[in-house]
Amino acid sequence: MLMDAHVHIALNGLFNRRSWKASPIERKTQWIREIFKQYKMRNISILRDGGDGIFASRLAREIAPSEGIIYKSPIYALYRKGFYGSFLGKPVDGLDSFKEEFKSLLEYRPDHLKIVLTGIVNFEKYGDVGATTFTLDEMKYMVEWAKDCGLPVMVHANGREGVGRAVKAGVNTIEHGYLISEAELYGMAERGIVWVPTLAPLGNILASEDGRFEKEREVIQRVYEGQVENLKKALEIGVKVALGSDAGAYLVGHGSGLLDEVEHFERAGLKRGDIERMCLENGAKALQLKDFEINPGIIR
Ligand SMILES: [Zn+2]
Repeated sequence: MLMDAHVHIALNGLFNRRSWKASPIERKTQWIREIFKQYKMRNISILRDGGDGIFASRLAREIAPSEGIIYKSPIYALYRKGFYGSFLGKPVDGLDSFKEEFKSLLEYRPDHLKIVLTGIVNFEKYGDVGATTFTLDEMKYMVEWAKDCGLPVMVHANGREGVGRAVKAGVNTIEHGYLISEAELYGMAERGIVWVPTLAPLGNILASEDGRFEKEREVIQRVYEGQVENLKKALEIGVKVALGSDAGAYLVGHGSGLLDEVEHFERAGLKRGDIERMCLENGAKALQLKDFEINPGIIR
C-alpha cells in the first residue's frame, strides 16, 4: 500500500472549473471515481489533498470510503489576498479576515489547514519564488488556532525566507520547499516537521521531451538538482520526508505521479524499500493518521 501526501483532485484532464460547476452531482461523482481508479490500480489508497476552490476535494472525501480510500482534505486553502493561490482556495487579508474565513471553513470539517505562504518556483528567474505573504506573527496565530481546533497545518512554501518562517511558526508539514538551505532542513528536523519535497512537477518536465519549457530548462534543472541534494542532506540530518507528487500539476498524473515521485527519490540514491517505508511512515505522520485508520483489518 502506498500513499500520496500531496494531490489536487480538482486539477486533472477530466474536468475543469467550468465543466465541474456546470455538471450534476452524478457526473462529478463519476469523475472522482475515475480518478480514484488511477490510484487504486497502482495500490495507492491513502491521499492528502492540497485544496481547491470548487469543493472537488470535499466531494472526493465523501466518496473515498466507498472506494476503500483514505482521503484527507483541507476543503480549500487560505492564501494572502492579491498573491499566489487563488485556484487553491480563498483569500485572507490579515488576522480578522483569517478568523472569519477560518470559522466558515470549520463548518466543512477540514482534516487539516492548508496555508499558501509563498509563490511557486519561477522557471524564468533562478531563485525567485514570489513574495512570502504572511508575517511570522500571522503565521503563528493561524497555526495556533488550527492546532487548538485539532487540525495539523500544511504549508506551501518555497525559498529560505518562506520555509524559515513556516518552521518558526511550528507548522506540521512543508510542501515543496524548493531553494532552501541546510538551516531550514535543520529547523525541520529539530521541530519534527514533515517535508514533502514534490520532485515530480520539475522532474517530470526534465524527464519528458515536452517543449513547453524549452527556454526555462536550465533553471528547472538547476532547481531540481538542488532539491535532490537537499533531499539527501535532509535524510542525513534526520528530517522526516514524505512523498507527495503534487498530482494535477503540469505533467503530473493522478496515480502515475506518485510512481514518478518514487523514481525521483531513487535518483537521489534511495532504495525502493526505504522509499516505500518512508512513504507510509512519514506520510502517516503528515496526515496524522490514527493506527485504526491505517490498519487494513479495521478499514471499512
Ligand atoms: Zn500543491
